[in-house]
Amino acid sequence: MRLAVVGAGWAGLAAAVRATQAGHDVTVFETAGMPGGRARSDHDDGAGDGATDNGQHILLGGYARTLALMRDVGVDVERALLRLPLSMTYPDGSGFALSPDGPRLLAAASALWSARGFGWIDKASTLVMTACWQWRRFRCPPAWTVDAMLRLAPTPRVRRMLIEPLCVAALNMPSAEASAEVFLAVMRDSLFGARDASDLLLPQLPLAQLLPLPALEWLRAHGATVHFRSRVTALARDGVRWQVVAGADAADLRKPEPAFDQVILATPAPEAARLTQALAPAWSAAAAALAHEPIVTVVLTAPPRAWAAPMLALRGDDTQAPAQFAFKLGDQVDGVDRVTLVVSAAGRWLERGSDAVAAACAAQYREVFGIADGVAVASVRTDKRATFRCTAGVVRPPMDILPGLRAAADYVAGPYPATLEAAVRAGEAAVVPG
Ligand SMILES: Cc1cc2nc3c(=O)[nH]c(=O)nc-3n(C[C@H](O)[C@H](O)[C@H](O)COP(=O)(O)OP(=O)(O)OC[C@H]3O[C@@H](n4cnc5c(N)ncnc54)[C@H](O)[C@@H]3O)c2cc1C
Repeated sequence: MRLAVVGAGWAGLAAAVRATQAGHDVTVFETAGMPGGRARSDHDDGAGDGATDNGQHILLGGYARTLALMRDVGVDVERALLRLPLSMTYPDGSGFALSPDGPRLLAAASALWSARGFGWIDKASTLVMTACWQWRRFRCPPAWTVDAMLRLAPTPRVRRMLIEPLCVAALNMPSAEASAEVFLAVMRDSLFGARDASDLLLPQLPLAQLLPLPALEWLRAHGATVHFRSRVTALARDGVRWQVVAGADAADLRKPEPAFDQVILATPAPEAARLTQALAPAWSAAAAALAHEPIVTVVLTAPPRAWAAPMLALRGDDTQAPAQFAFKLGDQVDGVDRVTLVVSAAGRWLERGSDAVAAACAAQYREVFGIADGVAVASVRTDKRATFRCTAGVVRPPMDILPGLRAAADYVAGPYPATLEAAVRAGEAAVVPG
């Protein structure tokens, strides 16, 4: 089959690699000058050094399809990702950390037992809550929010210190609005999944080197064609085949492409909606109806401080403390720490402007670590459409649009929220076996 993939984010790359492996003749069209989409690295000096990621990403041990794809295109996953047992540690040492050893249930029970900052009522209510999840087989009505699901248990402290951070980390949504159905699916497959499924995998390399560049190299080595700066402006039926019309500014696209047997639309939802508006109005309307939630990533330089873990949970709030997580992954440079603060579900904060969010993050960091001077904002990045809003009852468009036309991206109907694993799974699922 001649197959076109529109978009070279992680979903498009997954589709392109698996389709090439299945023996199809693959052509990828990408608007940008690089692969990776929302999980890409830009270069701030144009020379290939000083890559800056489009926001801090974390992977989980349960990202089985993503990790398999990375390995298949030649990534040394053990070197690329720092593997840590799941922890929700706050700067003052409170919180919990799973032990890497011993049987799973014992490790979870011991993490709960030794969790600091929680009383016995909090711990008992957490046990009741998780027992209920298991008893209900991690299912609930689609219209429930996480808060509605948890109205009886656990205690407010567990909600604040455990559920809310897990919810914004996994769904990029506050628990008051987040889909309980999707939240439970994440809990089932991570915390209650295979032994290492809840492990945190923290990137040790720029995002581009985790998948986008190795996948690009693999695709070219295996005969696929990849056009950059080549925005697809229209799709048209040509009998049972498809014409793909790409932007005139495509430097490497000199002659019109012959028709394709299948097109995989791996763009974000608004662009997929635009491209299908005349072809499949109902599908297009469902894609266009999805709303989006931003993430702000603030990099600070600060006087050195010892951290209990490379990733810390922070007590975010709606008035003074925007960030929910902080990361310290690199070494000190010139005697200062370089730390990354992440503001998830950032919609309300962004009404004040991104500079104000960055300044509030710097103030939050000073407060948390008791630092008077020397905390400065090095960079601030805002992705206004970081993820689709995974609210209770959200309707996600299906993979199949029309015969020979499929969607593959993180928003397509599936059990998971907008994540790298959802994108890769969608990309793989869209490929017709060879
Ligand atoms: C700041 C931030 C932090 C995040 N943190 C995490 C995290 O910690 N863990 C996690 O798992 N996920 C995280 N995510 C989510 C994750 O990045 C996304 O779910 C995933 O990258 C989506 O991949 P995709 O391929 O579906 O879409 P995209 O990455 O959006 O790729 C779509 C591609 O299509 C291209 N395109 C668009 N229109 C056209 C056109 N007309 N023609 C050709 N090409 C086109 C775009 O340029 C883009 O390259 C985060 C996202 C952001 C923004």
